[in-house]
Amino acid sequence: MRRIASHKALLPTGTVDRPLVTLDGDRIVSIGSYRAEDLDRMEGVEFHAGMLIPPMVDAHCHLELSYLRGAIAPGGGFAAFAAGMARERGRFTEEQRLEAIRRADIELWEGGVGAVGDIANGATSFAVKASSRIRYRTFAEIFGLRTASTSQAEALLGYPDTTPTPHSTYSLQDDVFRSICNDGRRSPLSIHFMETPAEAELYRGCGALHDWYATQGFTCDFLHYGSPAERIAASVPRDRSVLLVHCCCVRQRDIDIIMEHFTAPVYWVLCPRSNRYISGLAPDVDLLRRNGLTICVGTDSLASNRSLSMLEELKALGDVPADEALVWATRNGAAALDMDGITGTIEQGRRCGLSVVSGIDYATMRFTDASAIRRLA
Ligand SMILES: [Zn+2]
Repeated sequence: MRRIASHKALLPTGTVDRPLVTLDGDRIVSIGSYRAEDLDRMEGVEFHAGMLIPPMVDAHCHLELSYLRGAIAPGGGFAAFAAGMARERGRFTEEQRLEAIRRADIELWEGGVGAVGDIANGATSFAVKASSRIRYRTFAEIFGLRTASTSQAEALLGYPDTTPTPHSTYSLQDDVFRSICNDGRRSPLSIHFMETPAEAELYRGCGALHDWYATQGFTCDFLHYGSPAERIAASVPRDRSVLLVHCCCVRQRDIDIIMEHFTAPVYWVLCPRSNRYISGLAPDVDLLRRNGLTICVGTDSLASNRSLSMLEELKALGDVPADEALVWATRNGAAALDMDGITGTIEQGRRCGLSVVSGIDYATMRFTDASAIRRLA
């Protein structure tokens, strides 16, 4: 048994002072508190300065792209990024890809991550995920304007906790998009949403995607929906939960369309460092907060991020209270992945690990440059 004391802890009821958590391996045996004057006299208690937090949940990651770390220069914009992906993809061996995935999984674990919503287009990442201490939910992603069926994902559906999802509102024709969303499953969908202005512009017959599709000879049969938000509202059953990923260009009208449609929870997943890396765009976090939306956080992938640190992702969100951002990165992510019964909160009886975040300025409840995370169990 270990007894762990800290300055604060993030519990389901909020932030508490002077927590004392008893652990048996990774199982939380009890959660209590200590009196400040007793700290020096408590036998066998480890003190870790900072705030105890439950496992982080990386709600959006492409583990299989880990081999592209540093391969594509930042700041080139979305088209240059896509071209970089196409160029670099073939330059790595299977063994290099696997080794990068192994290292990424360890990096996530050491950064306090306990669960990941992982996107897969192929099978490379599953062996690492099967033996990982991290819990993975895999979204088998389907994309391509010439894709007429869901067969590209079907080969992956035999792997644990793996379900199909459409890539985005601009990369699939109407029939296949609708059939994925209406396949009768209860699993959440994870859709790249409003990452760039071009996604909405496409529906208005202009912008970078529209122009690129025109040069490739692609036509789209879904533009009559009017916008990405309207397409989702018209295609996804209202009682099916959805993760909307990136949201850089989301405006109030999009929020209204989405929230008027869905009765199931909608999770607004932000990956600010990936956006900064690719395009320099940033989600309007205040707009999402003002609307009381359920926000989650993801690292996207090492193709467009310098690390898979969830804490660094939170620091990049801007002026958000640290305890609020930590809820987004833990409990909200767990709910989005349908894992809130097993992880994402510090609760008695759970065996999901514990980390400590140091370097928070408690007077303002903001992260600082010195904020760091260490996994304790
Ligand atoms: Zn992504």
